[in-house]
This record gives sequence, C-alpha cells and structure tokens, in this order.
Amino acid sequence: MTERRPKLVALGLVLVCVLAVLWAARASRQDRVHRETLYVFGTLVEVEIRGEDTDRAQAATAAVGRLLQSLHEDWHAWRPGLLGDLNTAIAEGRGLTVDDRLAGVLRDGRRLSCESGGLFDPAIGGLIGLWGFHADTPPTGAPPSADRVAALVAARPRMTDLRIDGARISSTNPAVQLDLGGFAKGAALDLAAAELQAMGIENAVLNAGGDVNVLGTHGDRPWRVAIRDPFVWGAVAAIALRPGEVLYTSGNYERYFEHEGERFAHIIDPRTGYPVREIVSVSVLDTNGARADAAATALSVAGTQGWAEVAVAMGVQGVLMITDSGALLATPQMMQRLEPVGDAFPAPVEVVPLPAGVPAPSCGE
Ligand code: ADP
Ligand code: MG
Repeated sequence: MTERRPKLVALGLVLVCVLAVLWAARASRQDRVHRETLYVFGTLVEVEIRGEDTDRAQAATAAVGRLLQSLHEDWHAWRPGLLGDLNTAIAEGRGLTVDDRLAGVLRDGRRLSCESGGLFDPAIGGLIGLWGFHADTPPTGAPPSADRVAALVAARPRMTDLRIDGARISSTNPAVQLDLGGFAKGAALDLAAAELQAMGIENAVLNAGGDVNVLGTHGDRPWRVAIRDPFVWGAVAAIALRPGEVLYTSGNYERYFEHEGERFAHIIDPRTGYPVREIVSVSVLDTNGARADAAATALSVAGTQGWAEVAVAMGVQGVLMITDSGALLATPQMMQRLEPVGDAFPAPVEVVPLPAGVPAPSCGE
C-alpha cells in the first residue's frame, strides 16, 4: 500500500499535466482569430472567424467571398444579370426560368411583403429607379415629377403579382420591377452563414456595414455589436448577440439626396411613391437576416403609428426605432438587450409593448 502511493501521486501529476496541456491547447485554439474585409455585394463585408486553423478560416472566408460575389451579380437591380433579365421578361409580359436560389429569395420576399401589408415591397423597382437610386452614387438634381410618381403608383406593382412555379417566374402585372435592395443583404448573409456552418465553422461574425449575422461566440463571451447613432458619429447602444442571432438596421442617413434643402431618403412608401420622412433608423434583432432586413425597411415605412402591428405581423420582436426628432422607441424585447455605450442612451427610451391579438396574415405559398 505504502509502495503504491508514490506511483499514484506520479500518475496524478501526469494526468494534471496532460489536462493542463489540453486546456491550454483548447484555450489557444479559441483565441485564434481570422479577420478579413471583403469588398463584395457593393459594400464592405467584415468576416471574423474564431477558433479555427488559419487554413480552414481562410478557405471558409474565400468561399463566403465567392458566394456573396455571385449573389451580387445575380441579384443586382440595375446592372445586367439574372434579375435584370427577369425584369426585362416581366416588362415584356413573359416568364423566365431563374435558378433555385433566386426563386427561393423571391418566394421569401413575396411572403415578407404580404406579411408587411405591402410596406416592404421589392416589386417597386420602377419607383426606386425613378427617384434615382439605381446608381452607385446617390442621385443629384430635382426629384421626379408628381405625375410620373403617380403613374407608377397607379400601376400598383406588388410582390403578390408574382407567380412562382418552381424556378419559373412570371408576373400578372407588367409594372412589377424587382429591386431586392430592401432585404438582399439579409438573404445573402443568411446563405453565407449557412455556408460557414456547412464548412464546420462554429464561431464567426459577418458584418456588412452594421448589418450582422453571428455564429457561436467570441471566445468565452458573446459577440457584441453597436447600433450606429444616425445623428452624430458614434453608437446609440450596443447589444450582445446570442449564437445565431442577427441585427439589421435600415437607415436614412447613408443613401439619400438633398434638393433645395429637402432630404429624400432611399426608402420609398409604396402607397404614395414618396420617400419616408418620419423615421431615420430602425434596428431589428432576430434570428433570420432576410426577415430582419425586410422588417427594418417595412417599419421605416410604417412610421411612428402602427409600426408595432407590422412587427407582430412579420414575426419580429426586437425593434428599436429612431425618429427624425431623435426620439428612441423600443419593444420590451429590445429594451432588455440594449446596453448604453458610455453613461447613458442619447435620449430616454420609450418602451412600446407589442400589441396582442394582431391577426396572423394569411401569406402562404
Ligand atoms: P439600408 O440600405 O439602410 O440597409 P434598407 O434595408 O431599408 O436600408 O434598404 C433600402 C433599399 O431597399 C433601397 O435602396 C431600395 O433598393 C429598396 N427599397 C426602398 N423602399 C423599399 C420598400 N418600401 N420595400 C422594399 N424595398 C425598398
Ligand atoms: Mg432592409
């Protein structure tokens, strides 16, 4: 018995050393960070992958870059490509067979548009073009004439005019012109996040100018992201994102133009054909990028009245709205998650509960 004790002690020491080495290896693996900024999708997309070998992280980032670039080419609203061909076909009263990826995003867009009560409607590409937002740089010059705006509104282009049969797309209304700008980033980052997961990447963030999808965690803490202040350089708040969450912001502070002292935003109200005014920024916290992105656009259109009903109809709960007078409105689900950056929020946050009993819209296939 007394002879066995030193052996046991030695064995115990070896075990402790092995565990320490394993723990250190795991810790250093978790510390491994691969960060790259890609210029794809007409914007800068920051990809950060943690806890992977450099080779694997590099290969995964390259795959994401290729995917986003091909989506950009296929889904572009005004350069030649698959969506452009589809728009030409629709205007000529023809159908077109696209690929499953575009058909899928159009099906999602049609459902989200229906749920938003038509406030989010990617079929209003004609109006968006008329206002001059079909260009890489914001428009200059005068806004379009009231007659031209009214004529396009009267033609009532709607996503619900689309007929989607497998990958065969047609429209019952030739005025439909598709512009996926209101949710393409969300749909694309969802596909990119799925691609990373399929490649076995567990911890990553995809950040396209503040629109973010996350996988897993940032080492032993959550991924933390900021919501930009639309009025001054800085952040309104920060949020610690849980694995699989997304945060999307629609803002009227980046793409807009000014004419004779008046500011015209790039989000158009499909009911009037005119840019939205009241809301300067909407952030949506969710688990689906396409839905969050579409909802942020829809709630910008909804304005301070009725936005909470639209959020419920679209199935989103975490919402922060910033009005043109700087007021902050948040759902309780968002309020719980907002952290001030610095001492306090830039203004008191008014908490607006989501209404109960909003009938579920019937927006099936
Ligand atoms: P951001 O570019 O700030 O993320 P959005 O996600 O709201 O903002 O996208 C704005 C883009 O969506 C516009 O440039 C235009 O292409 C498109 N768009 C504008 N108004 C609407 C609308 N009512 N419904 C759907 N898409 C829209
Ligand atoms: Mg959007």
